[in-house]
Amino acid sequence: MTRQNKPTVTRETICAMEDMTFFTHALIFDDLLIVSNKETNCFVLKSTDGLIVIDAIWPKEEAFNAIIRAIDDVGWNAKMIKKLVLTHGHVDHTGCGKWLVENCHATTYLSKTDDIYWEAHPAKPNRPETWKDYKIDVHIKDGDTIVLGDKTIYAYGTPGHTPGCMSYIFPVTEDNQIHMAALWGGTTPPREKNKVEQYLMSLDYFKEQAKIKNVDVALSNHTAVDNGLERIAYSKVRMTYMPNIYIVGREGFQNFCQVFRTLSHDILSDM
Ligand SMILES: [Zn+2]
Repeated sequence: MTRQNKPTVTRETICAMEDMTFFTHALIFDDLLIVSNKETNCFVLKSTDGLIVIDAIWPKEEAFNAIIRAIDDVGWNAKMIKKLVLTHGHVDHTGCGKWLVENCHATTYLSKTDDIYWEAHPAKPNRPETWKDYKIDVHIKDGDTIVLGDKTIYAYGTPGHTPGCMSYIFPVTEDNQIHMAALWGGTTPPREKNKVEQYLMSLDYFKEQAKIKNVDVALSNHTAVDNGLERIAYSKVRMTYMPNIYIVGREGFQNFCQVFRTLSHDILSDM
């Protein structure tokens, strides 16, 4: 049987980031919800003291409404959103944070480098709605932790995709069993050679940290790289005897990271 060792990322993939006609969500752990449009997704982590939203899809009110609807649908309280943690300063992750701040008074987290980068490099300079539109409260850096109730998110500086890109490791629970989940913050490798090299160094660093933290759950913030929509669809109808498709094991997480290395080598060999 043929299996793919890398995802297909096309022009349509990029366009789909802005498509607000489709949203889906699934409770993938007892305390972790994924909300996605066709291409970009965010996570909501439930703690004993409220909810942490990780990334925020796209700067459209529809994305905010989809996140709130998903939280309501799984029986959680959207009024309990306390924090918005961003992986990096690109518009498809800073997303609908403005509404999360205005409506939920979420405390916002991003690296200082990407806070500046976001302002200095609007992804779509002819489109003001995609520019920086809310304040970052906490500048997060490598080695920091973000704590809310019983949850601790470990933050890792993984520059490359953007200069201040962050990746995160945090515990999730299923049937009273704790697993460690990892989210590689900047999905695609950059186009410049020296930045690809930096991206690969960051990837090696994150893989090592994932080993130390016993990561066995692979998450992604773009559905194109991990069969994301299919994993969500499966999770929505999964029966109790079926495995959790996000739990890939310690070795599995290291293999998952190989996808990003393969994409990087393609870029380097094109130069
Ligand atoms: Zn990005």
